[in-house]
Parts: sequence; structure tokens; C-alpha cells
Amino acid sequence: MLKRLGFDAVFDTNFGADLTIMEESNEFVERFVHGKGEIPLITSCCPGWVDYMEKYYPEMIPHFSSAKSPHEMVGVLSKTYYAEKKGINPAKIFGVSIMPCTAKKYEITRIDDMYASGYQDIDVVLTTREFSRMIKASGIDFLNLPDSEPDNILGDYTGAGVIFGATGGVMEAALRTAYYLITGQNLKKVDIEETRGLEGIKTGKININGKEVRIAVAHGLANVASVLDEVKEAKAKGKEMPYHFIEVMACRGGCVGGGGQPYGATDEIRMKRASGIYTDDKNQEYRCSHENPFIKKLYEDYLGKPLSEKSHKLLHTHYKPRPLYNR
Ligand code: SF4
Repeated sequence: MLKRLGFDAVFDTNFGADLTIMEESNEFVERFVHGKGEIPLITSCCPGWVDYMEKYYPEMIPHFSSAKSPHEMVGVLSKTYYAEKKGINPAKIFGVSIMPCTAKKYEITRIDDMYASGYQDIDVVLTTREFSRMIKASGIDFLNLPDSEPDNILGDYTGAGVIFGATGGVMEAALRTAYYLITGQNLKKVDIEETRGLEGIKTGKININGKEVRIAVAHGLANVASVLDEVKEAKAKGKEMPYHFIEVMACRGGCVGGGGQPYGATDEIRMKRASGIYTDDKNQEYRCSHENPFIKKLYEDYLGKPLSEKSHKLLHTHYKPRPLYNR
């Protein structure tokens, strides 16, 4: 339906979520199985949390996944892979992200890595609240516009890409792929209930190949601080880490309750949105990011493999301690 509003091409951020999962779950396996890097690995796709971590927990930087967030991955690929395949001059592409998130506005110029295509990878972010106001102000009957498919080659997504929007969804999606990477098989049951629901901190243990993976999922920054303090304390005392993998989302409920969403979200509304997401996941032909045929083709044709040199150049970022206020 967005094409009816004048966009020349429309990509789905859920495809970017599948790609973020591919990179992040490979990072997890590198650290957890091969000991290359700090444990726990902490997810990085929430720019509200990235900003908080750089200011308040900079000592956690080595624990952070370097994978960019989904819309940044789509942005950089639209101006490289897509532009090359379609014969479009990337200088002529203006990328607009429609996001549930006000922090994404800051993210698109956060650091030089956000210009990895040679251009600003995403040019502007509109929140869903802003976008819906623009639609209403223009008198467009949005609900009755016919549906249309996202543009390939950056197009279709899996159930794992969809659940990114709810607290616990990134962890669940990453574990589906990490399990496959470690065992060579898909989980018999891909629904991981331990990660779901609105409890502020969710913890659990997942057995992969006889090894216990301890996970924590935190949303809302007070809950995040409490999980990080546990990790810091264990580190300071030289104890075993309480978790191997931590998912963090700054907003309560995750992006379904994001700061750029229409005002008035209650827990009931958050749960309804999350429930819609899990239904969409169940209805997908593929439910794991590594099964996405477009992702497989992207790696075959362009990136080589997850964590390759090219993947690192385009799809990863880095972090630095920042002062609370710019002087
Ligand atoms: S949880 Fe909130 S701050 Fe984080 S990406 Fe989602 S909407 Fe943005």
C-alpha cells in the first residue's frame, strides 16, 4: 500500500530483522562455542538502549553485539546491493524509515558506520505516530488501500523477523538460528515461551547440544539496569557469568510499545500487538531467519557469509563511551 503513496520501492524492516539475527546469532556462536569474545553477548538493535549503555554502562561495550539494527541493514543494502542489481545510482536514492521509535531518528547519524554505503544509509525516520498523522491530514483512506508485496530482492521475511517487535522476540529469533548453527538442525519446537510476556525481566535456560545457555530478557531501563548490575557484580567478584545471552529493549513491551507509536499504549494494547505478531510468525512459511531464501541469496551473491569482511563493513558498527551532556 505504501507504493500508492508515491514510494518507488518498499522494503520490509522484518527482512532486515532476519539479517540482524543472522549476524547476531553467528556472533553468539563465535563467543559461546569458540570463546572468541566476551560473554554474555548483549543485543544491540535498540538505539534507545545503545545510547543509555554508551552513557551509563560503557564498560559493557565489549559485551555488545556489533550488528546494526534492522532498518540500518536495509538502508545500507538499498544503496549498495539493491542499487547495483537494479542499476540505480545510489546518490538518487532517498531512504525513509517508518519506525515505532523516536531513538531511530538519532541512530541514523550516530556514528560514521551509518554511512557505510558511501551515503547516509537511511536519510530520514518518520515515527508511526507522525506517519499516521500525515496520512490523516492528507485525507487518505489508508485502511482501504490495497495490500502490496515488499520489493524483492530485499523483500520477504520469516516468522523470526516478525517477532523482533515484541520483548523477547530478538532472543527467541536468535536462539532459533543459534540452535541450528550449533546442531545443524532446527529446534523441534521453535516457540520459546520463556522469552514471551510482559514480565520486566525474564530468565531461562535452553539446552543446546547438551550445553546450557542461560538467557535474560529485560525491557524498560530500570529492569535493564538490574540485569546489568548482576553481570557487573559477577565480574567484579570473578564469579561465573549469570547469563550467556541478554536481550535488552528500552521501551516497555519492546517496539510494540515504542516511543514513536500512537499515544495511549496500555499493557492490554501491548499484549494485543504482541499477540498479532506471534500469530503472524505462526502463519509464515519459514520461521527461522536462516531459512529465508532472500537472505540465503544475499549471502551467496553479495556478502559471502555472516561476519565476512563485507558483512562487517556494511552491517556492523561500534560503540564508544559518551558524556551525559555535550559540552
Ligand atoms: S524498544 Fe523502544 S527505543 Fe528500542 S528500538 Fe524499540 S521503539 Fe526504539
